[in-house]
Amino acid sequence: MNILVLNCGSSSVKYSLWDVPVEKKIVSGIIDCIHVVGIPCNHIRNSDMIPEELNIDNHAEAVAYIINLVKKSGADISAIGHRVVQGGERFKESTLVNEEVKDAISHYFDIAPLHNPPNLEGVLACEENYPGLPNVAVFDTAFHQTIPDVASTYAIPKYLAKKHGIRRYGFHGISHKYVSVELTKNFPEMKKIISCHLGNGSSITAINSGKSIDTSMGFSPLEGLVMGTRAGDLDPEIPIYLMEKEGLKTSELLSIFNKQSGLAGISGISSDMRKLLESDDQSANLAVDIYCYRAKKYIGSYMAALNGCDAIIFTGGIGENSPEIRNMILSSMDFFGAKLDKKRNENTEATFGEISSNDSSVRVFVIPTNEELMLARETFKVVSMV
Ligand code: ADP
Repeated sequence: MNILVLNCGSSSVKYSLWDVPVEKKIVSGIIDCIHVVGIPCNHIRNSDMIPEELNIDNHAEAVAYIINLVKKSGADISAIGHRVVQGGERFKESTLVNEEVKDAISHYFDIAPLHNPPNLEGVLACEENYPGLPNVAVFDTAFHQTIPDVASTYAIPKYLAKKHGIRRYGFHGISHKYVSVELTKNFPEMKKIISCHLGNGSSITAINSGKSIDTSMGFSPLEGLVMGTRAGDLDPEIPIYLMEKEGLKTSELLSIFNKQSGLAGISGISSDMRKLLESDDQSANLAVDIYCYRAKKYIGSYMAALNGCDAIIFTGGIGENSPEIRNMILSSMDFFGAKLDKKRNENTEATFGEISSNDSSVRVFVIPTNEELMLARETFKVVSMV
């Protein structure tokens, strides 16, 4: 069975076609620069990486283009899986799209303004171009629905939290689930896992026996770790103080904390970890130090929350590719039982991803994430049950 997987972001649509359950990727690519003023859309097939300019104005046209491309290649599609960032409290599992699901996705536009609108556009475009084909919504928040109240409740007045749905939702759930499942396939004895997804967006999740029990992103993907351009944890007084002192509008505050903060904000140089690691600039060094220090604090706190830890996983662009960052985060954590092996950390392929030393009581792994495959698996699971 072939499953088309779509990830409609604010300015791009990533797609891949999977043969399941054998889990073979048939084709994949990205259409980017949608809605970016002055730059034409590009279609980049992952197999050749040569950008081809497209005359496309919105997500619906991008999805129609992708479906036509698949049809022309002669491959059939049995179902379409959509990444949906915010599913709120209603969705604890991936689900077949119906009117109620679409209403729920739009209900959360307010709290996921950058993500849920393009996610829904993708679903609607598929319904229009491929009527009758099952669409499945796979939520980034679903994996975190097992987080207990003690970790998901903010200490604000109860009536406000209830009225506005203010609680920890958590994100990157598709990735955290994928890497933890991959680990436990090989090591079923690992129960207490700390999964570190470190990329432009970064989050850490504490997992106990396959269930998320806490995660660093919260009501929005802004909380928690320092990220490429996102601030992560802040004293809530700071935005209020800045609003007053600088006369800022909410849109300007959102832009400061989402787009101008994090590594980019601290360094004043770049949001790109590689550039900061190459730089001798003091602010770049400080940005990297703060990034690692924050990650270390979360790992420590989740070791406390889990009352121990069997394994730490690193994934995401930084987590998978930077031995230096992994080392900085885990250095001086031997008190907690986590010790890296220098050689393994620098050559992850030689050790099936294990980078801890033989005398480390917490085992540490690098596991490349594969959110597309997770989307295909979840979609297959849902359509197989119908
Ligand atoms: P996104 O969250 O947008 O999917 P990625 O997971 O692709 O982001 O991660 C992008 C980040 O990974 C960038 O900061 C980039 O510099 C970093 N990165 C990629 N390769 C390396 C590397 N070899 N060393 C350090 N950082 C890296």
